[in-house]
Parts: sequence; structure tokens; C-alpha cells
Amino acid sequence: MAEKRITIAIDGHSSTGKSTMAKALAKRIGYAYVDTGAMYRAVTLFALRNGLIKRGKVDEKALKEHLKHGDIVITFRPTKEGKSVTVLNGKNVERYIRSMRVSNVVSIIAAIGFVRRAMVKQQQAMGKDKGVVMDGRDIGTVVFPDAEMKVFATASAEVRAQRRFDELRAKGDTTTTFEEVLANVTERDLIDSTRKESPLRQAEDAVVLDNSHMTLEEQDEWLYQLYQERVK
Ligand code: C5P
Repeated sequence: MAEKRITIAIDGHSSTGKSTMAKALAKRIGYAYVDTGAMYRAVTLFALRNGLIKRGKVDEKALKEHLKHGDIVITFRPTKEGKSVTVLNGKNVERYIRSMRVSNVVSIIAAIGFVRRAMVKQQQAMGKDKGVVMDGRDIGTVVFPDAEMKVFATASAEVRAQRRFDELRAKGDTTTTFEEVLANVTERDLIDSTRKESPLRQAEDAVVLDNSHMTLEEQDEWLYQLYQERVK
């Protein structure tokens, strides 16, 4: 008998490596992978490029119009190397959405109710046939409250900031300091968990994964074991 296909929700704090673990698991079990943070980042990039964010304040009226008129189309495209890139209105924006410019304001955009409703609708459509690993902040609580497997990822703020810092350096960012990254990680967690609309919280039926002291291999195995239990 074929194994049953399930929905896998991976939520948690910023920079806990959710996308790395979600991607690895999806590849191993042949599921689709959806990075919902990339969607909020793409909306943010659109807003920045169109001058809709000034001194940390969002022109919500204009942003709402753009969303309504279908001016912000976000998709994912597979690359030849087997990776997936985020596409905004037909252009690969992967590089730009990971910048500090976007990280610094993404949580403000993600706190807006109509932005969330638009993204959640798309995410639910992407996962309607199950067989998907989705990572974000509200997947197990709002997007797929009935997901068969829910993980809540966390790690100490210092460990998370160090990982993000190393990633930025590897990508050629030589100016952002560790302190700036740490401040951003902590700030995003605070905004994400105290916002009115779908705040970041652990679903009651989620299993906590603290990966502060875990290797990638250990983490991948931990996830795979949990998946095996859930499809039994
Ligand atoms: O996952 P990532 O760190 O790339 O997400 C960027 C930001 O998008 C988060 O800090 C959070 O504000 C927002 N987000 C969200 N809900 C999701 C995914 C991301 O609010 N499902």
C-alpha cells in the first residue's frame, strides 16, 4: 500500500534554519516545499521598490490596491541545480529578498491583515493536495490547522544570529555587523509574536525542535523519524 500523503507545517522563530530543514525533508520524501517567508519578503520588496514604505511606515491603501489588482504575483521556479527560487512578477528576486533592507521591514508588512489574508489563501491553494512541507510562522495554527505533522523550531538568539551572519558574509555582505543581525532577529521575533493578526505561537499539537546544539544531520534524522511516525 502506498504511504499516505500528509501536510507538514514547520513554524518557529526567525533564523532557526526552518527552510533548510524543510527543504531537506521535502527532497527526501518527495514532497513539494513552500517557503512562506519568501512570499512576505517578496511583498516587502515590491513595497520598497514602489516607494510604499517611508521611514518604517507603510502606505497600506496603495499596497492594498496593488494586491487587489494582481500587481504582486509571487511564484516559485525550480532551477537546474534542483533548487527553488522566488519569482516576483516574472523576475527571480531570490538575492534581493534575503537582504537586510528587506529583513528590516518584512515583519511590519507581515503584520498587516490584508497582506496575510492574501498570502494564506495562496498557501492553502498550494497545499490543497497534501504532500507538502511548508515553513513559516502560522502554518500549523492558521494556514493548515489540521496538518498531520507540526514542528515548532527554536534556538538561542545568539546561535540564530550567528547563522544568519555567516550566511550574509558568505553571500558577500561585508558591512552588516553581528550586533545588527542579532538586533534584527530579536526585533522580528518580538513583532511576529506580539502582532494582532496570527501572532507567532506554538500550536498545541506541535513538537518543539530546539536545534541550538544539533548538527544538520541530527536535525534531518529527527524530522524524518517524526515523519515516519506520522505516516504509519
Ligand atoms: O521565514 P523568514 O524569516 O524568511 O520570514 C520573514 C518574515 O516574514 C518573518 O520575520 C515574519 O515577519 C514573516 N512571516 C510571517 N508568516 C509566515 C512566514 C513569514 O509572518 N508564515
